[in-house]
Formats: sequence, structure tokens, C-alpha cells
Amino acid sequence: MAREIDGASKDFHTDTLAVRAGQRRGPEGEHAEPIYLTSSYVFDSAADAAARFSGEQEGNVYSRYTNPTVRVFEERIAALEGAPAAVATSSGMAAILSTCMALLQAGDHVVCSRSVFGSTTVLFNKFIAKFGVDTSFVSPVDLDQWREAIRTNTALLFLESPSNPLCEVADITALSQLAREQGALLVVDNCFCTPALQRPLGLGADIVVHSATKYLDGQGRCVGGAVVGAEEHMQEVLGFLRSAGPTMSAFNAWVFLKGLETLRLRMLAHSANALELANWLQSRPEVEQVFYAGLEEHPGYQLACAQQSAFGGVLSFRVKGAREQAWRFIDGTRFLSLTANLGDAKTTIVHPATTTHGRLSDAERAASGVTQNLIRIAAGLEHVDDLKADLEHGFAAL
Ligand SMILES: *Cc1c(COP(=O)(O)O)cnc(C)c1O
Repeated sequence: MAREIDGASKDFHTDTLAVRAGQRRGPEGEHAEPIYLTSSYVFDSAADAAARFSGEQEGNVYSRYTNPTVRVFEERIAALEGAPAAVATSSGMAAILSTCMALLQAGDHVVCSRSVFGSTTVLFNKFIAKFGVDTSFVSPVDLDQWREAIRTNTALLFLESPSNPLCEVADITALSQLAREQGALLVVDNCFCTPALQRPLGLGADIVVHSATKYLDGQGRCVGGAVVGAEEHMQEVLGFLRSAGPTMSAFNAWVFLKGLETLRLRMLAHSANALELANWLQSRPEVEQVFYAGLEEHPGYQLACAQQSAFGGVLSFRVKGAREQAWRFIDGTRFLSLTANLGDAKTTIVHPATTTHGRLSDAERAASGVTQNLIRIAAGLEHVDDLKADLEHGFAAL
């Protein structure tokens, strides 16, 4: 239909793609994208049904396979990441699981950053391992560790950058080189930056996975995910999803579409608030250390400047003292949301050692730097002066 844009076109800036890519208007001329809340689709004739089922004729059959609202979301996130294709999933973890199930086989080996989302570690260690795929964990910032961990059967490298909660920055370009030399795929969880701030495929990564639950939605409403990459890989992932079922619902896809329209504006605002809080926290005598890649002292600063356009919304800091001081600080704040979620308009605060990283062994926790006096903040979109005022209550409670 006229007056729609081609998401694969290089003629548009990402801000425009975020608002318009993927939309195809129906005969009603609706302005916003419609929600197709239907589990299945009807055919004009028995012959049409046969053609649709055999794949001879393109079109929808069943919403576990395809759904028009979900398709718009897939085309839009692919356009934003600069990828040929994307597949939407029921959660971020379903995106990671589907990638593994589609692209790994028994006897393969994975090298994974040790600073990844807790459930990702559990997925590799406890479940993917059951199918004969071993995973080695390495420091995301130590290229020698990655190089040494790679074996002849390494099929996949997996990382998050910046990491949670210490904002370690992995060198995506260098790691994509290592992956290519080995003939392995580099998979990047781009949840913390989103394509508004970082486009890993442009740096050489093969596949990007997302938890749409976080910044793509941005307002804490829905759980969802996406896998983004080359057509051949996405066909494999789609094949797994269609058979196994962790696909995205049409309603959630619509919520994420609305989220994407404001993605860049929100990411810049989250980043500005986080940077100001990081600088402010650093000036406080009660604080031992602040972790945020936007601080010049942070070891990942130069790399973050090179591969990101802003530093994102998540920062963490160690208060002087132990767990008692960290808990007192958190309990002292009055309106910050005490929750492990992030990527929300509402600022969140959490004690990683006893929540998000509570299931790790003491050794694993120590290796990832998650000490008992560490507090993580995911800066939201409130006025930064009000955030500082609430954090002052935390300091007063120490
Ligand atoms: C939350 C999160 C996930 C998992 O996403 P869900 O949507 O909760 O399944 C994966 N990676 C990162 C970095 C996350 O923050």
C-alpha cells in the first residue's frame, strides 16, 4: 500500500524506522498498527488451504507460526538492528534458548561471558549441557581468556555488553574476529544498549538477542524477546519456534511496537540520568566505588565510546561497609522501586548479591565482582533531582 516505508531500505534513519518500519495498512486505513488477536486463519477454498499448508502459497495459517502484528514487530526490530531478519519470542530467555536449540548440536562447545544474565548461566550449565553441549565461562573483557577457551568444536560465543551489574564492556569487534577465525557464531545480548545505542551486527556479531521486556517495551508491561540476524540463521530459529512454541503474542508485539517508537528518546534520557547519578555518587564520601562505563575512570570507557552512542541506564556502586549498609541504604530510599527489573520509566534499585545473583555460588559471585556492599540502580525517566533526593534518604539511613 502507498505511504508506507520499506524497513530494509537504507534511505531512512533509524529514528524513522523505529516509528514506521514494517507497517502495512489494511483496507480500513488505520493509522496505528492493528492487533490481530486471532489464533488461526481461514482459507478461501480447500485448495487454498492445501497451498497454504504446503508453503506453496504465502500467508498465515496459525499464530504459533505467524501473526501479522508480530510480523510488524519482527520487521521493525530487524530494521533497527540493521539485520535482514528477526524472529519474535515469548521472552528474552526464549530468544536465547531458541538460538541455542536451532544452531547448536551435541558435541558443540560454547564460550560464554561469565557476566551474563543469571538465567542465561543456568540455561547453559543445567539445560543446554544435557544435550551434550559444554560451556566455558570467561571474563568478558579478557581477550586472552576467550582465545584460550576456544576449542576446535566451539560453535558459539555469547556475551552481553555492557554487563550487569558492573558495566564491563566487551570488545565486540575483536571477539567477532576470534569467532570468525574459529568458524563460530558470535551472539550478543543487546538488552542493555538496544539498537538505539549499539548495533552489534555492524561491529561483526552474527546474531543479536533481546529481552524486549526491558528497554524495548520501556514501561514494564510485557515479557517478550527477539532474535535478529541473517536470513539463514533466522529460518533455523523460526523452525525451532514453530515446533516448540515460545512465540510472541500479538498483544505483546503491539505493546513493543509502541515502545520502539520512543526507544531512542528514552535511551538518551535513561543514559543522561544514569551519567549524572554516577558522577554524583562518585563524589559521595559514603561510596567506595561506582561502576558505569560513562565514567572516564571506568576501564571500559574508551571501548564504550567507540561502540556505543551513549552509556545506557544501568549503574552500580559499592557503599562503604558490608551487606548491612547496602540493605540499610536500599531500605532508606522512599520511592525508588525495589525490584530486580530494569529498563523501565520508573527507577529501580536492587541488592544483586541476594537477588539477581543470589543463585550463584560464592566463587562465581566473587568472580563477577558482585560483593555484598554492591547496589544496582537502573535509572528511569523521573527528574534526576528527585532521584538524588531519594538516594539522599538512603545515605541518611547508613
Ligand atoms: C532480563 C534479561 C534477560 C531475560 O529476559 P526475559 O525477558 O526476562 O526472559 C536476558 N538478558 C538480559 C541482559 C536481561 O536483562
